[in-house]
Amino acid sequence: MYRIPEFVIFLPLWPVLLMFGFTTAWRWYRFKPLAPGECPTCRYDAAGLDACPECGSPIAREQSPA
Ligand SMILES: [Zn+2]
Repeated sequence: MYRIPEFVIFLPLWPVLLMFGFTTAWRWYRFKPLAPGECPTCRYDAAGLDACPECGSPIAREQSPA
């Protein structure tokens, strides 16, 4: 009859929760809602432009309702 060692159960739980909390916090910190015209890559204010002059990323423009 097998007995599962206690550390197998107890050890993996807290690092997983810790990592999950960190990644969630990081995403909340990193991926705040972009302002209109703001570059998603470098957050340069590229309002009114189609592409970021700093890094060349395409800027999602506001879509005016038809
Ligand atoms: Zn940029």
